[in-house]
Parts: sequence; structure tokens; C-alpha cells
Amino acid sequence: MIIVLKRGTTQEQIDAFSQQFIDHGLTVNAWHGTHETVLGLLGDTSVIDIDYVQAQPIVYKVQRVQEPYKMANRKFHPDNTVITLPGGQAIGDGSLALIAGPCSVETEEQICEVASRVKAAGAQFLRGGAFKPRTSPYSFQGLGTAGLDLLKEARAKTGLPIVTEIMSVAHLDLFQDVDIIQVGARNMQNFELLKQLGKMDKPILLKRGLANTLEEFLMSAEYIMSGGNERVILCERGIRTFETFTRNTLDISAVPILKKLSHLPVVVDPSHAAGIPWLVEPLSMAAIAAGADGLIIEVHNNPAKALSDGAQCLTPDEFDALAQKLNATHQALKAL
Ligand code: PEP
Ligand code: MN
Repeated sequence: MIIVLKRGTTQEQIDAFSQQFIDHGLTVNAWHGTHETVLGLLGDTSVIDIDYVQAQPIVYKVQRVQEPYKMANRKFHPDNTVITLPGGQAIGDGSLALIAGPCSVETEEQICEVASRVKAAGAQFLRGGAFKPRTSPYSFQGLGTAGLDLLKEARAKTGLPIVTEIMSVAHLDLFQDVDIIQVGARNMQNFELLKQLGKMDKPILLKRGLANTLEEFLMSAEYIMSGGNERVILCERGIRTFETFTRNTLDISAVPILKKLSHLPVVVDPSHAAGIPWLVEPLSMAAIAAGADGLIIEVHNNPAKALSDGAQCLTPDEFDALAQKLNATHQALKAL
């Protein structure tokens, strides 16, 4: 961190100011120019609040030269993190992870049929929401605990590990038997929830917020990791822009950027990014080409009757055809 002090700052003020950083275990180097003094902080500056520094009366300007996230940072962990489940399924090991299933769990017949169809198509994970973050309080809110039970039933029938969204710290106990816990876009900065998930021994699929920068996204991952849970999967699911053709705008550049900045696996959700079924294929292809470790795709056995996100779901047949193309694309790109 580089701090430029205002003109006229006295040595006494500089010493008192520097002492706070020394107390944090940092080294402070000072350069005294003709008019200004510049301080360079060396060490782990992630503990320093840049806004606090900027607010000090003697500070003219402050600039970070190091990212504020440490555990998620590739600099300190050059090897890719691979998330492996007890059943052998992996995300981040160079394979293409396919997570598929309905937006919401609705009935036993629905989730079990979709689960067996996506499994047959090659998906290694089953998704399905039991607690749903809906824009309107009058929309279907999910089956709650009954939905979790149905997911477990589909897991027992197919062997597919289940990925499902948590919305509240109050529900943590209900998620003990879930394989991967999803944090939705709307909760990416629910810091109390992230802190609690940091204490869990379970992979967390963290979705990027609707209007969050990549640095904010990685800081949210850092919340979970700094609590002790280093098994975080990052998910780019589209961001809000001025474009209205798609539900969101898939930030494809997020994939190589996140892979560069972090060692965590990155998956892409083309369904929520597009909001349109026919766009799922080209966006998935683009995600694979950009280096994504996997995809999370919504599939429903009867999209027209779906209780949420029917307009963006693929049918099992469409997913089957898509999965073949995606695996072929992944293989072809790996061979390059
Ligand atoms: C979902 O996965 O069904 C969902 C609500 O996603 P997001 O949080 O990305 O909107
Ligand atoms: Mn959905």
C-alpha cells in the first residue's frame, strides 16, 4: 500500500500514523520528497482498511498495490484448487463438471425424473432449489425442507450429489446433509451467512452478485475461506447491464480473470445469464472456451409448467444433446 501524505505533515504526525501499521506487523518505509512524504507499507496489508487510511487528515492519497484478498489469491496458492466429493466427483481437476436440474424442486416425480435424465446425459451433479429467492413475495417460494427431502431422495435414486441454495443462517442445520451449498447472487454479500459457511466442512458454490465487481466477489469468497472453509467454487451467472435482450449479461471475461487472480474453480451459469433456452448452448461453449471448470444449467421435464424460471429451462432431451456437444468441445479444446 502506498500512502501520499499532505504537504506540511510533521515528523511527529508521521511517526504516530506509522506506528498503527507497525502494530499490525507491517514495515513502513518513508520517502521524503521536496514537498511530500510517501509511505510504503510492506507485509500483509489485507488487514488495513483503505477507507480508514484515506479518511485520516494527513493523507492526500492512498493506493493498494496488493489485492485485499489473500486466501483466494493465486499469488499465495499457485496450484488450482480441486473440489472432490466422497463419490469421486471433482470440480477444478481439468474435467468438465456439469451441474444440472430444475430451478426449483417441485414434486417427487419432477425431481426424480429430471435427476435420472441429466445423469444419463452425463451430468455429475444435481441442482434444485428448495428455498427460492423470488423477486415477488407472491411467487412460488420453494418447498423448503420438503424440497430438501425430495432432493435427497433423487440423490439416493441416482447417486448424484446435490447442489442447493441456502438463504438464511437460520437454515444452516437443514443443510448438513447437502453435498454442495449454493449461495445465490442476492446473498453474495450476506456476510453473516458467509461467515457461518466458513465454519462448515462442505463445498460452497458462491454466485457472483447482480452488480458486484470481481474484487468484491473474491472478497466474499475470502469471507468463507478465512473462516476455515477453503472449498469455494466461484460461479459467474451474469450481471446487470443496460441490455434488456437477455436477463443478465454474461461477463465471459470474468472466467479467465478469476482463473488468473484466484486458484478457486470457476463455473458458469448460462441459464440465469441468458434467461433464454436457445442462448444456453452458445454461452456454454463460450464458457468452456474461456476456461470454465464447469457449467450449472437449468433443466425441467415440463418447462411450460415450471413453478420458477420455466422460460430459461432446457428439456431433458435438449440437455442430453447439449451435454454431448459440450463434452466434445471440452475434449477438443483440451487437445489443442
Ligand atoms: C438459482 O440458481 O436458481 C438462482 C436463483 O440463481 P441466482 O442466485 O444466480 O439468481
Ligand atoms: Mn432459477
